[in-house]
Amino acid sequence: MIDDLYQEIILDHSKKPRNFGHLDASSAHAEGFNPLCGDRLTLEILLEGDVVKDARFVGAGCAISVASASLMTETLKGKTRAEAEKLFERFHQLLTNDAANADDLGKLAVFSGVREYPARVKCATLAWHTLKAALENSDEEVSTE
Ligand code: ZN
Repeated sequence: MIDDLYQEIILDHSKKPRNFGHLDASSAHAEGFNPLCGDRLTLEILLEGDVVKDARFVGAGCAISVASASLMTETLKGKTRAEAEKLFERFHQLLTNDAANADDLGKLAVFSGVREYPARVKCATLAWHTLKAALENSDEEVSTE
C-alpha cells in the first residue's frame, strides 16, 4: 500500500517536475551528472543571507533523478544552509542504511524504497550532491562517480 503511494508520488513528480526552469536571479548554481544512468541537471538557488529563498532546476534524466530534484527544490525553500546540509545527510542515510527512519523527512520518505536498488541511489542523490556544490558556490560540474 505505502509502496504504491510512494511510487505514485515519484511518478507524479517525474512527469510534472516542480520548480523546473530558471530563476530570474540566482546566487549560486551547479551542474550535476550521473554517468551511470546519464542523469544531468543544473540547479540554481537564491540565498537571502543564510536562507534558501528559491531553488529551480533544469535537466533530463530518469524518473527517480527528476522526481528527486523536484521534491528537493520543494523541500529546500525556507531552509537555512545548515538545515539543508543536515537534510542531505538524513536523506543519504535513508537511502543507504536499512535502520534509518524517515520520521523527519516528510515527502522525501518516498525514496526509502530506492535502497532496494543500490544502482539507483546515485540517481536519487544527484540533485543533493549538486546542491552541496551550489552551496559551496562551485561552478565545477559534480559527478556522482
Ligand atoms: Zn537515473
